[in-house]
Amino acid sequence: MPTTVSKKNMENYDVLIVGAGPAGVSAAKSAALGGAKTILLEKQPTIMASKPCGEATSQKTLETAGVEAKPSIVMHRADAMVFAPNMKYVHIDQIGFSINKTLFLQEIVAQAAEAGAHIRVREEVQEIGRSSDKLMVVKTSRGEYKVNVVIGADGYNSTVARNLGINEKSEPIPTVQYTMVNCNLEYPDSVRFYLGNEIAPRGYAWIFPKGEKLTEVGVGVRGAPAKQHLDRFVKLFEKELGKGQIIDYRGAPVPIGGIIEQNILDGAMLIGDAAGMVVPLTGAGIHSSVVAGLFAGEVAASVSSEGDCSKARLEEFNRKYDEDWGRRIKKSLKVMQAIEKLSDNELNLLQEILKADDILDLANGFEIRKVAKKLLSHPIFAMKLARSLL
Ligand SMILES: Cc1cc2nc3c(=O)[nH]c(=O)nc-3n(C[C@H](O)[C@H](O)[C@H](O)COP(=O)(O)OP(=O)(O)OC[C@H]3O[C@@H](n4cnc5c(N)ncnc54)[C@H](O)[C@@H]3O)c2cc1C
Repeated sequence: MPTTVSKKNMENYDVLIVGAGPAGVSAAKSAALGGAKTILLEKQPTIMASKPCGEATSQKTLETAGVEAKPSIVMHRADAMVFAPNMKYVHIDQIGFSINKTLFLQEIVAQAAEAGAHIRVREEVQEIGRSSDKLMVVKTSRGEYKVNVVIGADGYNSTVARNLGINEKSEPIPTVQYTMVNCNLEYPDSVRFYLGNEIAPRGYAWIFPKGEKLTEVGVGVRGAPAKQHLDRFVKLFEKELGKGQIIDYRGAPVPIGGIIEQNILDGAMLIGDAAGMVVPLTGAGIHSSVVAGLFAGEVAASVSSEGDCSKARLEEFNRKYDEDWGRRIKKSLKVMQAIEKLSDNELNLLQEILKADDILDLANGFEIRKVAKKLLSHPIFAMKLARSLL
């Protein structure tokens, strides 16, 4: 439960953001641009992509974030291939980016600083409570702050959520990833996704080329040991990955169960992974977190200037986010729940029916009704898929 703290010599800010991932840096930028006295706190010693990530995203993400697609940030341009268990694939001819996420975050944080935000690294938020005058009080490894609004952008195992007594969590999928060098990729200009109950039960495996030398190879699985599946996957691609060496091996949960309901309280918001703002079927969270950050910062700045930081007023964030991203996340969750029930034979069959556009629609939660209608006339998928998507 939230504690009540009251101390002197605190620093005062309008908006305090916890965590400098894609959600936090974007929130800091937009809160500062909105005129709020803003501070961003990051527990790591540097602003960097400290959590493992495939770092694959769309051109649109960079546009949304206001980051130029320069060579230092965009390490690779690649199309996509989605493989069924029988190794037949659908080719998606749309170019996406493999980015250097650290430089991407640093670019946005520089924009936040230019807009007037204060950035502090190596400062871990430890406790959050409320003062007697109902403001938020944030205790860190270095000091204390009194603020109008706290934005928790501190990832899946959110300290902010825990301190505010929010126990609700989006369902996680455990993922593990190797960054490898010296691979000999058959498709060096495609990001590859592999589906199947053998390869990655209730998840998928991936091979993402990154620049000339690096390859991200990972799996996300549910109800099965992730590391074991990753090693089996690497073995399956012996010809391409056998000579590769692992230079980074990390894992982290990805919240794919949709957005939590309790993401707003009086004086506080949770965004990004902390609130389950990830596209469930793909596990992609960079774009959705940037958008969340931009909206959260904007709303926090405006409620703060009005002097009403109540839950009811902060709900404006959910209204803005739900219009597009919230709906997409809901639809993608529906698709994921339907697809994870399919057998490998059914996935093979589906690969023959679906076109690239259909896959993009399903994965991103765009036009899922259109795809569902297409499947309605199919003897197997009418019942197994179409009805649950309509
Ligand atoms: C293996 C893997 C592969 C992925 N691949 C992709 C991909 O290719 N494309 C894609 O779009 N998404 C991918 N994702 C998802 C994506 O990485 C996340 O959805 C996204 O980074 C979430 O951003 P965020 O800002 O909410 O949180 P995070 O990126 O988790 O950032 C949270 C920040 O908060 C800081 N922090 C935590 N606690 C505190 C505290 N108490 N005080 C101060 N700071 C704190 C952390 O150090 C961190 O910097 C992947 C995830 C995983 C695990």
